[in-house]
Amino acid sequence: MFGSHSVTRPGDWSIVESPFRVERAKAYEGLFTLGSGCLHVRGSLEEHLADAPQNLTYVRMPANVTSEKFPEAKVRWGTYVPGLFGRHPLLNNEMINLPWFLGLTPIIDGERLDMERCDVRDYRRELHLDTATLTRTFRWVTREGRQVRATFERFISAARPRLCVQRMRLYAPNAADVTVAAGLDADVRTNGYDHFSDVVVTWAEPDGIDCRIRTDGGDEVRMATRVRAPAAKWKYETGPRAAGLTAVFHIPAEGELGIEKRTVVTTSRDLRPSAPAALLAEAQCLSFEQLHEEHAAIWRKRWDSCDVVIEGDEASQMAMRASLFHLLRAHVPDDPRVAIDAKGYAGEAYWGRYFWDTEMYLLPFFLYTDPVRARTLVDFRVRSLEGAMRNAARYGYSGARYAWESDAEGNECCPNWPYADHEVHVTADVVYGLVHYARATGDDDYLRGPPARVLAETARYWQERIDTRPGDGHPSVLGVMGPDEYTPISSNNAYTNRMVRFALEAAAEFGGAAGASQEECDHWRRLAQALPIPRAGDGVLVLQCEEFERLAEPRFDEFWRDRSRTFAAQVSQERLYRTKCLKQADVLMLMYLFPDEFGDTEVRRAWDYYVPYTTHDSSLSAGVHAIVAARLGLAEEAWAFWERARGIDLDIEHGGAAEGIHIANAGAVWQMAVLGFAGMRSAVQSDRLTFRPRLPAAWTRLAFPLVWRCVPLFVDIRRDRVAVTNRGSRTLDVRVFDHTRAVPPQGQAVWTLSA
Ligand code: BGC
Repeated sequence: MFGSHSVTRPGDWSIVESPFRVERAKAYEGLFTLGSGCLHVRGSLEEHLADAPQNLTYVRMPANVTSEKFPEAKVRWGTYVPGLFGRHPLLNNEMINLPWFLGLTPIIDGERLDMERCDVRDYRRELHLDTATLTRTFRWVTREGRQVRATFERFISAARPRLCVQRMRLYAPNAADVTVAAGLDADVRTNGYDHFSDVVVTWAEPDGIDCRIRTDGGDEVRMATRVRAPAAKWKYETGPRAAGLTAVFHIPAEGELGIEKRTVVTTSRDLRPSAPAALLAEAQCLSFEQLHEEHAAIWRKRWDSCDVVIEGDEASQMAMRASLFHLLRAHVPDDPRVAIDAKGYAGEAYWGRYFWDTEMYLLPFFLYTDPVRARTLVDFRVRSLEGAMRNAARYGYSGARYAWESDAEGNECCPNWPYADHEVHVTADVVYGLVHYARATGDDDYLRGPPARVLAETARYWQERIDTRPGDGHPSVLGVMGPDEYTPISSNNAYTNRMVRFALEAAAEFGGAAGASQEECDHWRRLAQALPIPRAGDGVLVLQCEEFERLAEPRFDEFWRDRSRTFAAQVSQERLYRTKCLKQADVLMLMYLFPDEFGDTEVRRAWDYYVPYTTHDSSLSAGVHAIVAARLGLAEEAWAFWERARGIDLDIEHGGAAEGIHIANAGAVWQMAVLGFAGMRSAVQSDRLTFRPRLPAAWTRLAFPLVWRCVPLFVDIRRDRVAVTNRGSRTLDVRVFDHTRAVPPQGQAVWTLSA
């Protein structure tokens, strides 16, 4: 995976692509996505490739994404603004892929730059994680024998989040005439579908292109792009839904041509509406370097608050930073109207929708590094409560039922009934997220404010959703799909039941603040306590659901011959559903979240029983397995799962991030290090900050900043000691293994570990 031809690692802060290979282009496009939270662009090449149309219309059908085959395409443009959803006739609301504005192409002696067709040497593309900047350098030898050294740079400004800045520099040892084409192309599709109801592309004389589109979701998007070049006379050319500016430049021998392109994207959803031309004008008085410096300064600050240092293992260090980079990029600051979609705004595979991934995989990283950012993620669910209430009503229930696949308004968009109808645990996961926020920040009043309604309304839904079967001495949650999506309509899924219990208990405690009666709260408490966790006859094995033991054996040896592809891609859905195969952690996810409720013997029994059945077809699986293995002291297994998870988006050979970043897994990478190898207990699990470190053999140091109940800390774990520095103004008790120390403000406590 980290072979010399794919991802190499010069220094700890960049990912390098060298040389260019067209079959890897899509994976790098996803991996090299840049973004400012509110604007994201995949890492496509400025000059594009020939024979790679982006306007193909096709019908993407509702299908299981894990086994779905995506249309063959060399590259896939992607420009995303979170919250911009369009209406798809079969797939429901999906995030819209917006016009592509990166186009910047040199043409020399009639030869158009093309990475596949031209003689390109010393190609090197580098994503600088520290400054969120993408650079590319190469030598181009034209068919006429002319040589040019090219450098492309690009960033989406963290300081001006609607602005993308590009620069191209061409150095010619011998004089050359270069035509430069700078384009904007609105002839793009999302999942093969055209979401633009109106497109207007105009010339902003003398050096710009403006574009205005109206989407079928009713939003307006405006783009303004301007090119800056010395003494240029731009010619405007227009095609259907696209336009370009071209100009000819003379580069003297040993001279350099520098061209900049700046683009601003605004939408009718913007919290602070501004005309794109006005935003551009503000930036026009600053040089490329000045714009880059203000942008980089913000990224440096971001890294200060969250960088995880891993010493002794360079590959893990890079993978960690790549994950954190995409988490930081994908989060939209100050905007609770959106969360982070399943592909981290880097692809359309999951339609730009919000899943339980938000609460269970993404939230912890933000909660413990930047609670202000975390707040928007939980507030998103409070804001979309009305949508959840509509969903409940649609299914014939009172209260609120959160969507398995949510758009920005909380509407259920999942077009596949097994998930939409049955994967109900998300409604409890949402409450878990709200409580987690309150516990981690120490702000219990949060749950007495607007979130109390979420607690009460979801409890009202559960109260009706829970059945009592004749002859049973307990209530049951029936007809559910747990986190393991290969066991579809099951009874009393242990994970779901425990999460529903958690949600009902929280509602009983805080629902009164939203007007729930004492009687309701008492009822919720009773229901919560009576929900069963099914177990096998030995009493030790926690059953995923009541039916689990009666399912057929999956016979992997016969049916899962090619282990490099998912199991789901090789068998029918019906086989997935009637056999014991698991898509991802289910009981083990439960045990990860509630560690004190399951002793080591039970966890070990569950591990031995479920792991051989687990396909890890979902990228959400490996991380949880690594954490549980670390708890069990299964060092080799923990390491193997860590290696697997850390590499998912970097595994270029197997497609990596081609369809978007596996952002939940990126969140899991952080959790594996902090909640797994550092053995930290979350604030739901413990009132006291606690660590039980179990560093992988290769690591000599694991260090990270942390915020615990508003106290900023720095945790530094080495093989023989743990040091915790308190950077706040309040003394904090910290426990390492069984020893608790008070760490005073601006002070440090050190624990010596025996080998
Ligand atoms: C997983 C879900 C996850 C979704 C989006 C699916 O493949 O099974 O658990 O929420 O992907 O990441």
